[in-house]
Amino acid sequence: NEEFVLSTRPSDQNEIKSAWKLQSCPMPTITNDNEFIIKTLFVSVDPYLSSGLKKSALGGDTNPIGSVQISGLVGRVIESKNSNIPVDTIVTGRFGWRRYILANGTEPRFRIVQKSTEKNTIYDNIGSSTAIGVLGMPSQTAYYGILSVANTQPSDVLVVSGAAGAVGTITGQIAKKIRGAQKVIGIAGGQKKCDYLVNELGFDAAIDYKEYNTKEKMVTRLKELAPEGITQYFDNTGGFVTDAVFDIIKRHGKIIICGQISTYNNSEEDPSKINIYPNYLAKTIYRGLSILGFVCGDFIHRNEEEFYKDMPVWLNEGTIKFQETFVDGFENLPRAYEMLFTGENIGKVVVRV
Ligand code: NDP
Repeated sequence: NEEFVLSTRPSDQNEIKSAWKLQSCPMPTITNDNEFIIKTLFVSVDPYLSSGLKKSALGGDTNPIGSVQISGLVGRVIESKNSNIPVDTIVTGRFGWRRYILANGTEPRFRIVQKSTEKNTIYDNIGSSTAIGVLGMPSQTAYYGILSVANTQPSDVLVVSGAAGAVGTITGQIAKKIRGAQKVIGIAGGQKKCDYLVNELGFDAAIDYKEYNTKEKMVTRLKELAPEGITQYFDNTGGFVTDAVFDIIKRHGKIIICGQISTYNNSEEDPSKINIYPNYLAKTIYRGLSILGFVCGDFIHRNEEEFYKDMPVWLNEGTIKFQETFVDGFENLPRAYEMLFTGENIGKVVVRV
């Protein structure tokens, strides 16, 4: 058996890949009646892992050096003493990065994806890896972010940053196709991603922030594409894009803070490197802006059923489209995580073990 443990705390993006160490560990064995062993099939790498790589600002490390990295994963049960979870059941949950895992079904976000006796479920069509993607946490973030937090309406003109990623692709589509927003503009890195958003996903427009690479250029382009004015901004990145939108978003606009990935690899010890624009709060006053932060976990705990009722229907009827970027090999987990910051992915990054 093998596992990844945290070995150093990276101080910038170049050190990300060496944050973890691959080491051998014992094969798990079942000792209690409700236990089962999972063979890992797909592992999720997510931007939020960056917070666990840092030393906790509040003291008390959540991820001490030497601890096994945890994230969402999908696996197949290969041995079981749990009558509800027989061999060949496909399961998901938050587990340690191990090839073989001992579990009992009480782990965080544990869910049965598919029982071996169930045929023709949605996972037969779209693959069980989607349990950590378009049928999992990133997509739930988009779902609750648009339907509950932004509460996007047909009159809205919505800009979403990080638009070609796991959360962004679904966010823009739910706003446009489910809520009927009058205009959805995606911000992403590179023409290929921008073309994908418009031609495949039905965004009204997209802006390559690597071409429009200053706040001033971004403001000009946004005004060209949305002369009627922006009413909602779904922020996944922070940085100069956010600064640009803040300057021109309409009176009573809503700014939904989902993520700030452009700041995640900044060293906390160096405030000058952190993108903080202190004038943001002052700007909210006269224009009556709302800044709404949220975490998907709050909503998932309250009403996960709604998501699992709606999303499979939207996927089956082809309303919501998705993409996965697969990285092959358990040993490539650190490299896959790095891709989130180099922007090599479209849609969800999944490590295929
Ligand atoms: P993505 O699939 O979007 O991957 C990350 C993307 O971010 C990359 O593809 C890259 O795209 C972009 N990116 C990386 N670095 C920068 C940068 N410096 N400036 C601008 N863009 C950058 O990841 P997720 O969909 O999983 O997550 C997207 C965001 O949502 C993250 O900020 C994450 O923390 C947040 N999130 C929040 C949740 C919540 O509950 N609030 C839950 C889940 C995610 P590009 O090529 O366009 O640069």
